[in-house]
Amino acid sequence: MWPFTKQHPDIWFTNTLSGRKELFKPLSSGEVKMYNCGPTVYDVAHIGNLWSYLFADTVRRVLKQNGYQVRQVINITDFGHLSSSADSGNDKMSTALTREGKELTLENMRELAEKYTNIFLADLKTLNINIKDITFPRASDFIPEQRELIKTLENKGFAYRTTDGVYFDTTKFKDYGRLGSINLEGLREGARIVASAEKKGATDFLLWKPDPNIGWDSPWGKGFPGWHIECSAMIQKTLGTQIDIHTGGIDLVPTHHNNEIAQSESASGKKPFSRFWLHHQFLNLKNEKMSKSLGNILNLSSLIDKGFHPLSLRYLSHTVHYRQSSDFTWEALAAAQETLVRLWNTAQKVRKQAGEKGSASEASLRMQTAFRDDLGIPRGLALLQEGLGGSLSVWQKWQMLVDADEVLGLELTNPPVGVREEDRAKANEREEARKRKDYATSDRLRTEFENSGYRVYDGVKETIYIQTTKR
Ligand code: AMP
Ligand code: ZN
Repeated sequence: MWPFTKQHPDIWFTNTLSGRKELFKPLSSGEVKMYNCGPTVYDVAHIGNLWSYLFADTVRRVLKQNGYQVRQVINITDFGHLSSSADSGNDKMSTALTREGKELTLENMRELAEKYTNIFLADLKTLNINIKDITFPRASDFIPEQRELIKTLENKGFAYRTTDGVYFDTTKFKDYGRLGSINLEGLREGARIVASAEKKGATDFLLWKPDPNIGWDSPWGKGFPGWHIECSAMIQKTLGTQIDIHTGGIDLVPTHHNNEIAQSESASGKKPFSRFWLHHQFLNLKNEKMSKSLGNILNLSSLIDKGFHPLSLRYLSHTVHYRQSSDFTWEALAAAQETLVRLWNTAQKVRKQAGEKGSASEASLRMQTAFRDDLGIPRGLALLQEGLGGSLSVWQKWQMLVDADEVLGLELTNPPVGVREEDRAKANEREEARKRKDYATSDRLRTEFENSGYRVYDGVKETIYIQTTKR
């Protein structure tokens, strides 16, 4: 058939722009441009931050399952912006340099950022996010683009200068605050945005912050771009003036994302800057948002050190809908891991017996429909369990696992349970030692296994080996 047209089943997302669930359609058929607000790399990311990129990866996977190519960009904020979405306070990157006993220079900032960027990328990989498919632009590599954008905004009359910086004039942008229907009154002085003496309006925000001691040259003096401008500039450069999907945590809606829209649409004159805005809720710890400033954080490595497979965090993230917050507990993680290991064991059995190809199952189609319905991952997961426990043929169960894993990313088609062929003799030796209650030998062999990339769980009936590293 010519011209070749690919059918995409309907996908629905809740769009923060309209506040409703909407049918997804990209600007150009077949390709989706997606931007996910990235981390400030001043420390090791906590699992709350990682939650955000697990979410973005699930969006990507659902799009791919339905035949779309995805161009995905996650920015890396690698130099100081002021400490929060407000325009005041200490800068996180500078604070981190002091913490690490380094002098405050741009080179040191970049070096510190690279160190934490590498840890961030390694964490994403550990969570089975394919980082090769994603572009990670560093904000400090896009200073000329940020300066250009500010100049454009100035030339078009959207910006004004004060002695402490260049500001965006939010009264010039009539849709300001539309995303998330923000109550602008609520953003007045003393709230999230701290006023400067010369700032004309409380919601106006910095585009350029002069600093005589450190920064880049600009028509507004040596200094730094404001935080929000980096996303607008990098999106324009890497994806274009209009994109299909923009994501982030709900904390970014009132200020950062409204500011991005104001900058991008004012500069390009094109609306909407992003057709879909998807915001996820938080991962909490003891009922509070996990965040560095509150000090209630956990890193991925601390989960692994406690004996958890990293994918149990991914599994946990699939058990709650993205528009609901989740409270992290070790018990919940343990339960997630237990279910995941059971799923891996089933997958292994099913894989071995899969046999002759049959017809696609209704059960799998229902599961995929749930995935497409505003990322109904928890529902899809329940349907998967139902399908695996039901009367499908072994081949249909296998196919359902393959379909599920395209979205879940849990290595269901190549489960990391059991011992590798080359370690089988050692596992048998350990089994024998346990039978004759020779705990010295079984403990020694356990340590050997743990030192060579396994977690070992001695259950009542059998020992479960989980491969924590790939060979
Ligand atoms: P930041 O590095 O603070 O700019 O955050 C990067 C991303 O992580 C943003 O999209 C935040 O909304 C998100 N984020 C931060 N803390 C959490 C949390 N506890 N749960 C979920 N997402 C979070
Ligand atoms: Zn952003």
